[in-house]
Amino acid sequence: MRVIPLGPEASVGDWARYPGCRLTITCAMCGWTRGYNPERVLSRLRELKAGGHATPLAVVARRVQWPCPGCHRLKWRAGLAWPPEMTEAEARRLAARARN
Ligand SMILES: [Zn+2]
Repeated sequence: MRVIPLGPEASVGDWARYPGCRLTITCAMCGWTRGYNPERVLSRLRELKAGGHATPLAVVARRVQWPCPGCHRLKWRAGLAWPPEMTEAEARRLAARARN
């Protein structure tokens, strides 16, 4: 996946600026990564009354309590990324559609 560069203040709601992106959980120790549907992550946070759009991605990462399948350690980073099948043209098309 292609990581979307975000500032340290990035929050869950930032995904809406990048239509088609995935919310990723990446192991800080070995780089193992998994992508999630950001809308589902958001509704899960709401369900648990654990946050919403403004929840920082760093807080989301801290909530992940399972060890990395790659290295069995527990140090996660959350971010946003384009899935491999997402081309730049497709990203632009979706962004334009989201604006209209
Ligand atoms: Zn790992």
